Amino acid sequence: MCGIVGYIGRRAAAPIIIKGLEKLEYRGYDSFGVATLGRGIEIFKHQGRIAKNAHSAVRLNGTIGIGHTRWATHGVPNNANAHPHTDCKNRIAIVHNGIIENYAKLKRELSARGHRFLSETDTEVVAHLIEEKYTGNLFSAVQETVPQLQGSFALLVISAEEQRIIAARNASPLVIGIGDREFFAASDMTPILEYTERAIFLEDGDIADLTCEAVEIFHGTKTVTRPVELIDWSVEDTKKGGFSHYMLKEIYEQPQAFYNSLRALDPETLPAIAAKPSSVTIVACGSSYHAGLIFKYLLEETCGIPARLEFASEFKYFPPPVSGLVICITQSGETADTLTALKQAKARNCPTLAITNVLGSSISRVADATIFMRAGPEISVAATKSFIAQLAVSMQIINIFAGEHDTKMLLHAHRAIEEILLKDLSDAVSVCKKAQSIFYVGRGPFYPVCLEGALKMKEISYIHAEGYAAGELKHGPFALLSKDTPVIAICMPDSTYEVMISNIKEIKARSAPVIALGMEGDSDLADVADIFITLPDTHRFVQILTSLVVLQLLAYHTAVVLDRDVDKPRNLAKSVTVE
Ligand code: GLU
Repeated sequence: MCGIVGYIGRRAAAPIIIKGLEKLEYRGYDSFGVATLGRGIEIFKHQGRIAKNAHSAVRLNGTIGIGHTRWATHGVPNNANAHPHTDCKNRIAIVHNGIIENYAKLKRELSARGHRFLSETDTEVVAHLIEEKYTGNLFSAVQETVPQLQGSFALLVISAEEQRIIAARNASPLVIGIGDREFFAASDMTPILEYTERAIFLEDGDIADLTCEAVEIFHGTKTVTRPVELIDWSVEDTKKGGFSHYMLKEIYEQPQAFYNSLRALDPETLPAIAAKPSSVTIVACGSSYHAGLIFKYLLEETCGIPARLEFASEFKYFPPPVSGLVICITQSGETADTLTALKQAKARNCPTLAITNVLGSSISRVADATIFMRAGPEISVAATKSFIAQLAVSMQIINIFAGEHDTKMLLHAHRAIEEILLKDLSDAVSVCKKAQSIFYVGRGPFYPVCLEGALKMKEISYIHAEGYAAGELKHGPFALLSKDTPVIAICMPDSTYEVMISNIKEIKARSAPVIALGMEGDSDLADVADIFITLPDTHRFVQILTSLVVLQLLAYHTAVVLDRDVDKPRNLAKSVTVE
């Protein structure tokens, strides 16, 4: 997983590429590098993130270049393993997103034929394979190399002897931006938007030949025409907009993201394939899995439609006997496990529906039908607005299934979310910031809200946190309760209210401080909790959203107080395109 950028035109390539890489750092940031066509191939690469002085430090000539920000899969993050990689003669340079699965065999064969390797990466074999086939025509050399590669790749390749960039795609995203006698290539639109909104999304098996004059796309040996799409994300959408972190900006964008995603779906736009199914299997990973679990609870509770939920990573190796509609949820549309699961479901003749945020993403090209959320680009690694957009789509699907097209209640949800954004959570933050471990408990659809709240806390504050179905806490985790392990309890006025109050009393009896989330005016809950965070009295669906936003903000403010790198937490990357 990584970000790649290419530029060919009349301007200096290196600054455009570095700026683009900065925008793609959410995809990986353990090293970065740029290669340009200056006096021969000129390369700068460095371990670590793109330094603030990179624009002045990287002095590369030329108006053609490629760049990479890495999330290592093969070989530790260091200068040698940073991309671009070159052939033995330094005539060819490449950047790569993905994994070459058969690289070990290829490397043995290439070494036996005398090639020298400078890195431990899987990627470097590709440079040497192209070298062997290169006789002055880079496009043909790449075209002959691609069939030898197994695995996933988005590749950008330049040669010291030709004024062109060759781009190839298989199972890793790659988009071409069309400017005025200048062209861009990137893992997604964010580096390109500043220059053009016209884009072509390459498909698996495509190879593109970019020169200053034109882009030609081939699929295998045949020329193909791919549609030029207009991408209406504004450049401003991708910037911090005055917030101290992207995550906070994205939390504040949630009312809009929820509203837009909700509005985009109605009985007419719901894909026919999803028309009231008799059963549903939801497949997802990470936060999308938690959204899937909320979807499952509400689908069964509201519509009586049996729903099962599977981790995409398990589905692949232990495929359950599925029939009926398979719904795959992935923010990026590139999550490798989810994509594989969807392909497997298709192979077993199940109708497949993807829910994703990214137009032109891989999953949308494979699924029978796709619902696009309207969250806009999400830069912070921790998912927030894309999660709420997944809930908007899920809740709207349920409304349509239930025959309740009147979604007034949900159209007002954004107001309730706005109310939460104004909450002062400083008391709860003071308790959480000192904790070794935090438990989150709730029942029914509030249990996955707890899972998601705990995940946010873990990933950005590095405090150990676990979400539990409230009834499960006494089956083991009680042993860990003490005055240093706060418990966050969501206690809503439903059939579980009384039992939740009992659970909270049991927790208090073990000296654990309780931070309770409940309805405003609930004096019983206020009495039993150490800290009481009130939510507006709204519809059950909206309670899910408001309690979730409280937990996101709690994680965010705790991480800020602890001085964590909120938008780029250690060891994580935004889009998990490897297994
Ligand atoms: N497999 C390549 C490497 O480890 C690329 C990984 C990526 O997509 O970031 O360098």
